[in-house]
Amino acid sequence: MPDEAEMTGVEGGTPAKSLEKIGDRKLKPSTMMMGHGFDPALSEGALKPPIFLTSTFVFPNAAAGKRHFEGVTGKRPGGADGLVYSRFNGPNQEILEDRLAVWDEAEDALAFSSGMSAIATLFLAMTKPGDTIVHSGPLYAATETLIGRILGKFGVKWLDFPAGATREEIDAVLTEASAGHVALIYLESPANPTNALVDVEAVRASRDAIFADMDVKPPIAIDNTFLGPLWSQPLKHGADIVVYSLTKYAGGHSDLVAGGVLGTKEHINTIRSMRNTIGTICDPNTAWMLLRSLETLELRMSRAGENAIKVCKFLREHPKVDSMGYLGFITDARQQDIYDRHCTGAGSTFSLLVKGGEAEAFRFLDALRIAKLAVSLGGTETLASHPAAMTHLSVPQERKTALGITDNLVRISIGVEDADDLIADFDQALAAI
Ligand SMILES: *Cc1c(COP(=O)(O)O)cnc(C)c1O
Repeated sequence: MPDEAEMTGVEGGTPAKSLEKIGDRKLKPSTMMMGHGFDPALSEGALKPPIFLTSTFVFPNAAAGKRHFEGVTGKRPGGADGLVYSRFNGPNQEILEDRLAVWDEAEDALAFSSGMSAIATLFLAMTKPGDTIVHSGPLYAATETLIGRILGKFGVKWLDFPAGATREEIDAVLTEASAGHVALIYLESPANPTNALVDVEAVRASRDAIFADMDVKPPIAIDNTFLGPLWSQPLKHGADIVVYSLTKYAGGHSDLVAGGVLGTKEHINTIRSMRNTIGTICDPNTAWMLLRSLETLELRMSRAGENAIKVCKFLREHPKVDSMGYLGFITDARQQDIYDRHCTGAGSTFSLLVKGGEAEAFRFLDALRIAKLAVSLGGTETLASHPAAMTHLSVPQERKTALGITDNLVRISIGVEDADDLIADFDQALAAI
């Protein structure tokens, strides 16, 4: 929730309180996406928020300007109490941030120009030379590069544990790391492309036990891009900060690049200061497009998830399919236990291992007619790609083998098309192998 005063810069008024309850009934996010955080009375009665294309905001008087800058510079806690300058925030981004926070029931949220700028701003805000980041592995490739090669240049160290690690394995890594200063515990679940789930509850219990004596324990952040916010809500399982590439399911139409960070007011204020300094906020037009996307988030993700169940059941039985990496078909009892505790759906992104190698996988991909051959995920359209030859091409062979990124592995993100049309497409493409 914004402070009431937070939007007073828009037209000098105070926005009406957003509707969050009818009697005792707390409204669901899919209802709140149509109006939360926007007061038409402040924008000529427009039903939808206009796009505010302005680089700066007029102060009503000099004292108000001083008060804003006391907030922005941290002389007074809580940030600016109005809009100041578009590198800090704008009306479209503030509405987006209010609505993003609703899905995960976070105290506060920030919008960014990309998933990676969100992650980079988080890391810059949380770490200093000599600190350690403990993370689950594997991570999104650019995140691994950022930690290992870029933060490494500034003296930040890292230690990792495998995504599927047990409480004992997590304890061992955190204990080793606790010899130094652990600035952040950073998770990504499910891991890409292995689909291994991280036991967030175990990470939380381990963090709380190993850092029991510390007043300020290292925060737990998690990249929830693959299952959030519909099928996984890690704040409820002990994470402190949630990160999104909004480019994927949240944006959902493969027509924008953006990121989000959600969490407690305290953590968000720390990250906001860094965003104010380096300007990694998303632009007003992208924020507006995301507002439109969030109105259909539940519709789109539900349909994509239902489609994926149907398509995966078909693929699993197909004679040209060797195996599948889909969260609906977990075979490992421990992974199933993590899934049951943390997830409410299997998502719509999975791995398909065709019988054969690269040649067979390529023949399959080249024969697809509805599914498009592209990286990324979470859009309305079905996409297919080949990690070994594309997103993970530069990963050394031994690490590829360890991660199970084989030459016959195809990555698929199911969209909202008709499920039987998709099945017909996969059937004819498998026949072409
Ligand atoms: C795509 C992605 C990112 C990076 O997001 P961008 O919006 O492309 O910067 C980070 N994490 C995961 C899991 C992703 O899929």
